[in-house]
Amino acid sequence: MQHLKDKVAVITGGNSGIGKATARLFAQEGAQVVITGRRQDVVDQAVNEIGHGAVGVVGDVADIEHHRTLAETVKNRFGGLDIYIANAAIINLTASGNATPEDYDRHFAINTRGVFFGVQAIEPVIRDGGSIIVTSSLAATKVLPDHTVYAGSKAAVAAFAKNWAIEFKHRRIRVNILSPGPVDTAILGKLGVSEADRPAFEHHMASLIPAGRLGQPEELARAALFLASEGGSFVNGIELHVDGGMTLA
Ligand code: NAD
Repeated sequence: MQHLKDKVAVITGGNSGIGKATARLFAQEGAQVVITGRRQDVVDQAVNEIGHGAVGVVGDVADIEHHRTLAETVKNRFGGLDIYIANAAIINLTASGNATPEDYDRHFAINTRGVFFGVQAIEPVIRDGGSIIVTSSLAATKVLPDHTVYAGSKAAVAAFAKNWAIEFKHRRIRVNILSPGPVDTAILGKLGVSEADRPAFEHHMASLIPAGRLGQPEELARAALFLASEGGSFVNGIELHVDGGMTLA
């Protein structure tokens, strides 16, 4: 049985990591998938990998015009959408004393403003009864070294999502927060750890996670499927921690 048959799902940053694994699973589950990303070549390659008629739209989530174009494209091609996942984000770890205004603005332009105006643009086009998932982070709940700016940008989107869960209730649109712990994706390569130190870093990370290992993108994809599909039909406004228990550790 396909759990997303005839659904249209838009996933920002669906060209890598958790977004791509989610796009692949959703396409297998029968959804018409639309992914976004910043680079045409990377988006094209991901569209090929995902298959099932997936569509790519190139743009920067920090650019408000991009969200309007995306909403219009989805409306024109598919008549609307059922699932929107605000997944695209960046991370650059620094101690607060070293954070530059540019670094701060980039985190909030992509991770926070990109989510707010993405949902604002898509809301008129998402069908009644639809599902919005906002990807936050373990860092929004738990204090982690040098994560302050990123944590702030992710805590804000969790707050947006809770407000939207109530704001959109008249249209039965459910809005939930997916909160990953450390997951083995390209973003971990942006934490300033050299290739040589990577095995030791991963070993250390794994020791902090009750599950004893990093998460895999497919495990987040399955959690997103639960929130987006009939399985999550009575779930609204929650923060789903998919982190091997690390929030509590
Ligand atoms: P990733 O780097 O593989 O994916 C991030 C995606 O965002 C990429 O597709 C990238 O192209 C896209 N992106 C970045 N800036 C963009 C921009 N300006 N415009 C459009 N797209 C842009 O990393 P991931 O781990 O798959 O991250 C997915 C989500 O999960 C992110 O929101 C991230 O903050 C969150 N998260 C990840 C982890 C982890 O350990 N991997 C932990 C907590 C939260």
